[in-house]
Amino acid sequence: MSGTAEAIIADSTGRSPAAARGTMRALTLVADRKIELRDIAAPAEPGNGEVQIRIKAIGLNHIDVWGWRGMAFAKRTLPLIVGVEAAGEIALVGPGVTSCRPGDRVVAYGALTCGNCKACRAGRDNLCENVASIMGFHVDGFARELVNMPARLVVPIPQNVSYRDAACAPVAFGTVQHMLFDNAKLEPGETILVQAGGSGIGTTAIKMAKAIGCTVITTVGDDAKAEKAKAIGADHVINYRIDRFEGAVRKLTGKKGVDVAFEHVGPDTFNGSLFCLKRGGRLVTCGSTSGQSITMNLFQLYLQQYRIFGSFGCSLRNIGESLAKMASGLLPVIDTEVPLEEFERGLARLESRQVFGKIIVTF
Ligand SMILES: [Zn+2]
Repeated sequence: MSGTAEAIIADSTGRSPAAARGTMRALTLVADRKIELRDIAAPAEPGNGEVQIRIKAIGLNHIDVWGWRGMAFAKRTLPLIVGVEAAGEIALVGPGVTSCRPGDRVVAYGALTCGNCKACRAGRDNLCENVASIMGFHVDGFARELVNMPARLVVPIPQNVSYRDAACAPVAFGTVQHMLFDNAKLEPGETILVQAGGSGIGTTAIKMAKAIGCTVITTVGDDAKAEKAKAIGADHVINYRIDRFEGAVRKLTGKKGVDVAFEHVGPDTFNGSLFCLKRGGRLVTCGSTSGQSITMNLFQLYLQQYRIFGSFGCSLRNIGESLAKMASGLLPVIDTEVPLEEFERGLARLESRQVFGKIIVTF
């Protein structure tokens, strides 16, 4: 994954090699569950305020699986270039760009925000009032050799962080950073329940919570994952296929419950996670892989004074914070690396829930 000479050398016209060829490789979703590697036109030179990024690594997330399966409600047209989080190297900079130079290593924010609304100006990028779309889901994403982006949406990668690890910053790490620290306001010494601790965000939540001195309880679906979850720092691991996690958490906390529940599973676990909270506890969720709807006990909600946070994406600041954590040694757990041609194998592995950590696609 080290930077190749080709990546930073432009030809005599200043164009990158792929752009000079006029075409580039791109992974394109052409129909539900059908991705093809295609040669498409390389992007034009970056415009005013834009940079051109040569993509090096892509992190896979559940949103990729949703997109691959097909989502009736999503407004988009196929074919669509996939890939929602990525790391790469600046190949070219457009006029007026002073924040980065060719050769800089960067990650890119995955949503096209406006940069002007009240939320954007306050640094709350994921609450942008005029967000155009999510790259790799609504509009063309990062699984291509070159992509032009507004320079304001890229974040530099610290020197000692690899492209592979950095590719987990914009979505996996950023989302968890935002959930735990901006929304749930997790404090050192608190107890947290992390649901599905073997997932990309689950492994990240375990490591981030442990790093500030929390007691971490997590759930997994088999004994092999239980060992791996312990190895990355979980204090208590519940195999939910053997034990009801609600009862186990009650026992582990001396009937008190946890301060924070980290959710992304949905109907299968949501009410159980609420039940695990102590009075005034916080539940934060960023996903719902097991379905869309639940029935909730409202008496329980207000009598126990629960606080529930919906969380989606993160801010540019959260991406910087994530990369800083990686630079200080808090690295993502990588399950598998697959080459670009095997993107679909990565998605199938993610969908099968056999993973422990992140799946990375390399160029
Ligand atoms: Zn905005």
